[in-house]
Amino acid sequence: MPNRPQPDLPEHDTAAFWEGVKAGELRYQTCNDCKEVVFTPRAHCTACGSGKLTTKAAKGTGTVYTYSVVRQSRHPNFADLGAYSVAYVDLDEGFRMLSSIVGVNDPTTEIKIGMPVKVEFEKQDTGDYPIPVFRPV
Ligand SMILES: [Zn+2]
Repeated sequence: MPNRPQPDLPEHDTAAFWEGVKAGELRYQTCNDCKEVVFTPRAHCTACGSGKLTTKAAKGTGTVYTYSVVRQSRHPNFADLGAYSVAYVDLDEGFRMLSSIVGVNDPTTEIKIGMPVKVEFEKQDTGDYPIPVFRPV
């Protein structure tokens, strides 16, 4: 199993997101006042500043907006991964998330911009929180 770093909790703004991840949900927020889609989790709307946000669960489907491949990492938590991707994924609900594309043999050739992907919650060697990553569909 991978050993990606864990969130540093408790943390007020992101706690609901991470509890969602534990429950198998990819959570985001919408503004009750202006309907803006808000991500990453926070206390106020990024468009109008309202504090009236509703947390929702995304379907977890989206497309690769862009990506890069890390071929050499000196961080010990990523040593066993080999070459791995760092990708922005556009979720169908209208937010963009930084994550990784998994389930490809060679991330340098098999990931494409616009590729449809779906979230999965990757269990880790240590820690209580799985990490949301995306797999091509
Ligand atoms: Zn708003």
